[in-house]
Amino acid sequence: MALRCWRWWHWSACPGTRPLSAGSSSRSRAPLGLGVCQQFSTQEPSPQICVVGSGPAGFYTAQHLLKHHTQAYVDIYEKQLVPFGLIRFGVAPDHPEVKNVISTFTQTARSDRCAFHGNVVVGRDVTVLELQKAYHAVVLSYGAEDHRALEIPGEELPGVFSARAFVGWYNGLPENQELAPDLSCDTAVILGQGNVALDMARILLTPPEHLEKTDITEASLRALRQSRVKTVWIVGRRGPLQAAFTIKELREMIQLPGTRPILDPADFLGLQDRIKDLPRPRKRLTELLLRTAVEKPGVEEAARQALAPHSWGLRFFRSPQQVLPSPDGRQAAGIRLAVTRLEGFGEAAKAVPTGDTEDLACGLVLSSVGYKSRLIDPTVPFDPKLGVIPNVEGRVVDMPGLYCSGWVKRGPTGVIATTMTDSFLTGQTLLQDLKAGLLSSDPKPGYTAIEALLSSRGVWPVSFSDWEKLDAEEVSRGQCAGKPREKLLDPQEMLRLLGR
Ligand code: FAD
Repeated sequence: MALRCWRWWHWSACPGTRPLSAGSSSRSRAPLGLGVCQQFSTQEPSPQICVVGSGPAGFYTAQHLLKHHTQAYVDIYEKQLVPFGLIRFGVAPDHPEVKNVISTFTQTARSDRCAFHGNVVVGRDVTVLELQKAYHAVVLSYGAEDHRALEIPGEELPGVFSARAFVGWYNGLPENQELAPDLSCDTAVILGQGNVALDMARILLTPPEHLEKTDITEASLRALRQSRVKTVWIVGRRGPLQAAFTIKELREMIQLPGTRPILDPADFLGLQDRIKDLPRPRKRLTELLLRTAVEKPGVEEAARQALAPHSWGLRFFRSPQQVLPSPDGRQAAGIRLAVTRLEGFGEAAKAVPTGDTEDLACGLVLSSVGYKSRLIDPTVPFDPKLGVIPNVEGRVVDMPGLYCSGWVKRGPTGVIATTMTDSFLTGQTLLQDLKAGLLSSDPKPGYTAIEALLSSRGVWPVSFSDWEKLDAEEVSRGQCAGKPREKLLDPQEMLRLLGR
């Protein structure tokens, strides 16, 4: 039986060996013979697996595969020059503790059996079919990059932005840096009542000096310093029992310095009696809402609220009907809301219009009604209605060797922990299939083949060590201002810094 260096068909470094040099773009450039080869006595080739997307789903899937198959190799392809998906471009800058997962992902990326290839748009620079030819298995973990449209008149007016774009703007997503939201208005309306809506409200109303030590971009901080937004309405079609935000985020809003909450006690009529039957998280959330809405604050809190220059309010039972234009028609100046009532109970209750409407004047409308996955390659099955890749336990239907994890698998809901569990399950499914002999047992070229393809197409991937250089540059730029980092915003500048 042949004793072979792992990945024998592939010119690569051995386990325990870091890639050749800090600048090398992949481990496959490292010459054979560096370090001591791990040998194994099987004719089976080491599985070559690739993951598309370097958000939590991509990294947690890779982590699971590497941990539970000691000979698997995982390449992670990412369209951005930088890794970590929504951890970098979604999670709010004033929630740095949430970003701690980056250190776990960094450990995964530094494994000798893992490589990161940023600056590669799958579906454009390389097709899924080409990846399938080069790898034993392909996992699609590319998240949800679109937003759900409101589908109401006036949605296209200046002053109306999707949550995705607004969040991308303050978090340094290159494609949103031209957004330039006009914050000279008095009132902003956020449509949707999930945690993303509360993130945006908090960023709009947090005293800018509290954001100065976060990784928010300097440009958005400058705009927020000049903001004249005094009131933020957070609008939901249904009632308090259906609000999608969680208690931690609500509490943060209630305690936000310089602001006072506005809740209409009428929205809470009859809720007191129903609280005891609610599941615990919903019960605690509703209790907090109810207390804030109907109880008189203590003397100290009342004084604080009386002095607060800003306010935010939850507007329940309102569905957006039309964005109202300014008199010259060139800008959003308000929103018409249909008043609703509920049909049914609990989470399943439906909002139906009562026929009444209400107009709210505002100069900024942020639509936070959901993210949406897109089809990135016509060969991959896609359910446009649900916005997910049809799958059974992570196996893409009718596509052996193709898997999915994260938001593209189950839809754009759930926190990082949910995405982790879901990605581990996909990893488990893939390894079961491998063990059951359901995947090709032929040797596969992996990144060697893809690198050649990309190079012939003028695409130059960036490696994880490239990212570490950019990371060091960001940290160093942030230091002067006492920030954890100042994010690089321009891909051309990033490439220049890498000597490309
Ligand atoms: P993503 O994180 O979106 O990662 C997908 C990756 O795929 C991205 O890097 C993307 O660039 C890449 N990609 C896309 N298309 C391609 C392509 N064609 N080729 C190559 N790569 C591609 N959860 C928490 O627990 N705490 C929070 O505080 C929190 N805050 C959030 C704030 C916002 C605004 C949002 C939207 C979500 C937040 N979440 C939070 C949820 C959390 O971010 C998600 O659960 C998680 O990011 C989903 O992971 P994912 O990998 O499926 O998607």
